[in-house]
Amino acid sequence: MNRQPRSLPAFYDPGFAAPIGDHIMPIGKFALVAEGARAIPGVHVARPRPCEREQLLRAHTPEYVEAVRSGHPRALAESQKFPWSPQLYESVCLTNGAVIEAGAAAIDRGVAAAIASGFHHAHADHGEGFCTFNGLVVAAEHLRQARQAQNVAILDLDLHYGNGTASLVSSRPWMRALSLYGNDYANNEPFRDVTTLRHEDGPNHRSAPLPAGCRLPELLKVLDAHLGWLVEDRRPDLLFFQAGADPFREDPYSPLDLGIEDLKVRDERVFQWAKDERLPVAWVLAGGYTRDISKVVAIHLNTFHAARSVHL
Ligand SMILES: [Zn+2]
Repeated sequence: MNRQPRSLPAFYDPGFAAPIGDHIMPIGKFALVAEGARAIPGVHVARPRPCEREQLLRAHTPEYVEAVRSGHPRALAESQKFPWSPQLYESVCLTNGAVIEAGAAAIDRGVAAAIASGFHHAHADHGEGFCTFNGLVVAAEHLRQARQAQNVAILDLDLHYGNGTASLVSSRPWMRALSLYGNDYANNEPFRDVTTLRHEDGPNHRSAPLPAGCRLPELLKVLDAHLGWLVEDRRPDLLFFQAGADPFREDPYSPLDLGIEDLKVRDERVFQWAKDERLPVAWVLAGGYTRDISKVVAIHLNTFHAARSVHL
């Protein structure tokens, strides 16, 4: 791992955005974040290679992968709550490919980003909550197969509890996942779009709730109390960081009291901790549904500024 990367690689493709129509998921945000990231000194945005079917099959069942590819059966193809189209499969192969490339680039250079989201609710045999395939676990499996990483950790700071990641990690003792959440979907109105609200925490997947009204000092306190567990006993070769924008206080799902600058401090804390632990970090964008999309984009771009302030 290069301790002082001269540049920050990021992966983006216009094909990330499948045609999903008028949807609460602001699919246009990826292009805006990519455009903003290109203007940040040191950030180099490249197009990823799409992942292969074989890579998806390391984390997902053949029936589910085929449903998303072909559109049949339709209920399974749309289990993530996106309308199916022929472009859907291509788009999710590109987003998962971006996570693989970001993971590999982070191992090589210390830090990298995939300007993509939609992962942590995806289970082995179906999607949930706008997440088709679990790119975090797909990428971890690929990197392990390629002998680039033996152990992989996931830090999930999306507003929502990462139920799909927990279910996939539980059968992979070489992975470890931590989800700090403000919303476990039990009260996620108007969209009750996951079927599995909670998993019992297990030996290699833990979670901690953030209380309603949670402000920055409390968030940092919970974060500091749990981060050490990710590197306890065994050092991961890579950390995937799910940098959610939906903990923001103006997000329609968020009961937390966190502002745009607070989330930047959160991200700086994560990058600094990882750097102190000599742990490469690849991050993904994750949720953000605030009606004013410029605020969602600002939160995601702040993650780049936070990474840059620590690493470049
Ligand atoms: Zn979320």
